[in-house]
Amino acid sequence: MTSEEFRQAAHEMVEWMATYLEEVENYPVKPNVEPGEIYEQLPDHAPQKGEPMAAIFEDFRQIIVPGMTHWQSPSFHAYFPGNSSKPSVLAEMLTATLGAQCMVWATSPAATELEDRIMEWLRTMVGLSDDWAGSIQNGASDATLNALLTAREKASGFTANYTGLGRQRYRVYASEQAHSSVDKAVAIAGIGRDNLVKIPVDDAYALRPELLAEAIEQDLAAGYQPLMIVAALGTTGTTAIDPLADIVAIGRQHQLWVHVDAALAGTALLLPEMRWLAAGLEQTDSFVFNPHKWMFTNFDASAYFVKDKQALINTFSITPEYLRTPEDNRVNNYRDWGIPLGRRFRALKLWFVIRSFGLEGLQAKIRLHLQLTQWFREQVEGHPHFEVAAPVPLNTVCFRYYPVGPSPEELNSLNEQLMHRLNRSGEIFLTHVKLNGRFVLRMVIGQTEVQQRHVEKAWRLIKEMAASLPVKN
Ligand SMILES: *Cc1c(COP(=O)(O)O)cnc(C)c1O
Repeated sequence: MTSEEFRQAAHEMVEWMATYLEEVENYPVKPNVEPGEIYEQLPDHAPQKGEPMAAIFEDFRQIIVPGMTHWQSPSFHAYFPGNSSKPSVLAEMLTATLGAQCMVWATSPAATELEDRIMEWLRTMVGLSDDWAGSIQNGASDATLNALLTAREKASGFTANYTGLGRQRYRVYASEQAHSSVDKAVAIAGIGRDNLVKIPVDDAYALRPELLAEAIEQDLAAGYQPLMIVAALGTTGTTAIDPLADIVAIGRQHQLWVHVDAALAGTALLLPEMRWLAAGLEQTDSFVFNPHKWMFTNFDASAYFVKDKQALINTFSITPEYLRTPEDNRVNNYRDWGIPLGRRFRALKLWFVIRSFGLEGLQAKIRLHLQLTQWFREQVEGHPHFEVAAPVPLNTVCFRYYPVGPSPEELNSLNEQLMHRLNRSGEIFLTHVKLNGRFVLRMVIGQTEVQQRHVEKAWRLIKEMAASLPVKN
C-alpha cells in the first residue's frame, strides 16, 4: 500500500466511522445470524495475491458489519457496557499508527510517563490517596490474578515463585456472587478452585461478613492458611456492594490481602456523592476498575491500583540481560507490573478521553446514567405485572415480568421468552441473571450516548412484548 493509497483509504474509513456512529442506533443491536453464516461467506484460503483496499473494505461492510453486535448502540443494555467514545477512537488510531511496544521505559519513554501521570489522575479521580500505585492492565480478570499472585508471593516470603507452592494450603474468600474471574485466578495461581470459599450473600446479594469471619475461623482450625478476600464493589449479576469496611476489619484481624473488584462500579466513584459505596476502600490492598466498561474508553483499559508496589514488582520482575537498561532504578518498567511482556500504548486513549470530556463531562454522563436507571426502576415498580428483583445502587435494574397466575417455572419460561423476543427484534439487547432460581432480566444503562428516549423505548417494548406473551392462567 502506498502512502497515497493509505491516505485515501483512511479518509474514506473515517467518513464511514463518523456515519456509523451517527447511525448506530438504527442498526439491529444484536444481529440475526445463525452460527456459521459469516464463516461460510469467507474464502477457505488466504489470498495468494494482495487485494485492493477498496475490495477489503467492501467485504467489511457487507460481511462483517451485519454479523456484529453493536456495542456502541444506545439501545445496548446487555452484560455491562463496553463503551467507547470519539476521543478514545481517535487515540486508538494514533496508538495503532505509532505501533510502539511499551514494555519498558526505554522502549517508549512517553508511553511510560503518560501512564505514570494518567494513573495518578485516575487515583485522585476515584478518591484514593497517593499511597497507591497504579498501572494499566488488560482487564479486571488480569488484575485480580495479579493481586492473588502478589498476595501468594508475599505470604510465602517470595518463595513460591521459586519452589512452587509446597504444602501450603491457602484459602481465598469471595461471595457467591463474585465474578468467575476469581475462580479462574485461584485455578491459575495454583491455589486450587476447591480452596476458593464462596461466602453466602444477604437479601441485597452482598457478602455476609459474619459468615466470612466464621469461614476463616473454621479454616484456621482445620489447618488452612487464609490468604486473600476478594470484595466485589458492584457484582456482575446485580451490582451488589459487599460491605467493605466490615471486610477490611476481618482482613486486618487475620492479616489477609483484601482485593476490591470494582470492574464496573469504580467509575461511579468519580462522583463524590457515590463514594459512600467505597467506605473502607482506602484500607484495602488492591483495587481494580475498568474504564473500558463505563468510562468511555475502548477496550482494553483496566486500572489496577496496589498499596505495596514493591511486593507487586518482586512478584513479576524477571530481568533477562537484553532488557536491562541504565534507567531501571529511576523509572517504571511496566512489564514488571503484570504477566505480559509486551504492552500496547493504552494510556493515550485515557488521556484523550479525560481531557476531552473533562472531569465534569465524565461526571455529567455518569449522573445521567444513574438518573435514567432510577427512572426505569420507578417504571418497573409502578407496574402491576412487573417487579424489581434486586436493589439498584448503580446503573443496572434487575427485574422480571410477573403476571398473576403462572407457577414459578412458568414465570421463568415467560421471562426467558420475553428476553429472546426483545433481542430478536434487534431494537434493544439485554441479558439475564438467575437469582435464587428466578430468571431475571438485567437492564444496564451505561452506553456513552444513551438518552432518556432510548430508555423509554426499551420500557415501551418490554411492556408491549410482555403483554403479547401467551400467559396460562
Ligand atoms: C466485567 C467484570 C469482570 C471482568 O472484567 P474483564 O476486564 O473483562 O476481565 C470482573 N469482575 C466484575 C465484577 C465484572 O463486572
